[in-house]
Amino acid sequence: MARQTRTPAKAEAKPAKTSAARRRTAKAAAPDAPALPDSKATAPRDMTQPEIVQFLSDLEHAWPDAETELHYTTPFTLLIAVVLSAQATDASVNRVTPALFAAAPTPAAMVKLGVEEVSELIRTIGLWRNKAKNVVELSRQLLEHHQGEVPDTRDALEALAGVGRKTANVVLSVAFHQPTVPVDTHVFRLANRTGLGRGKTVEAVEAALEKRIPTEMIRDSHHWLILQGRYVCKARKPECWRCAASEPCLYPVKTDRPVIKPPRQTPG
Ligand code: SF4
Repeated sequence: MARQTRTPAKAEAKPAKTSAARRRTAKAAAPDAPALPDSKATAPRDMTQPEIVQFLSDLEHAWPDAETELHYTTPFTLLIAVVLSAQATDASVNRVTPALFAAAPTPAAMVKLGVEEVSELIRTIGLWRNKAKNVVELSRQLLEHHQGEVPDTRDALEALAGVGRKTANVVLSVAFHQPTVPVDTHVFRLANRTGLGRGKTVEAVEAALEKRIPTEMIRDSHHWLILQGRYVCKARKPECWRCAASEPCLYPVKTDRPVIKPPRQTPG
């Protein structure tokens, strides 16, 4: 007798989530997490090492002076600026930090300033209530555990209020020149689109990039990728026709220069 294999009835099966629904669920669970890659817009394979070097060299030519666009003068002011930049533009953070850093350039001064005063100074950026609490609390933690200095290890940074993995990586890379690749929404998108280092989670992309990018390019690549993602390889529609790294990029649906229609002639 033929062995019967049991296929679960459709009614019993949990309805499969659409990729859009999966992306919405992931976003709700972790509001800071970049959207999951869309399979249609993901490179079909990882770049080879020569392709990686070519791609990053092309980006270096496109963004020769790439640095963080946040304004800071010390590891402490960098840390505060990066904490404030979660879900806010660098430009909006740069508008509030001159007054904030003038009033509180050190952890001790920030604690003395207090949550209410900090709130007043950062009120124009998103999530200012929580950020004000975090900025004061992390300053207190720096005084209590680190003699008022910003620590240079990921674990110690991530133990501070309001500091997640990405913020810790930015501080390690920018302030302490460590070979990390902070993965924000731009880096995540570019890594998957281009084949530089594909992955379904921030951690997977971070591990892929740190393994694949040559050590001498790793620190600057973070800035090249962010500027490229912000101004050329945009989320909704990348501007491939004007991209300096189009040749080694493996994005399968590159965009053409938009056709500008001539104005309609009105009958005279
Ligand atoms: S803009 Fe286009 S060609 Fe350039 S990196 Fe992005 S997807 Fe690739």
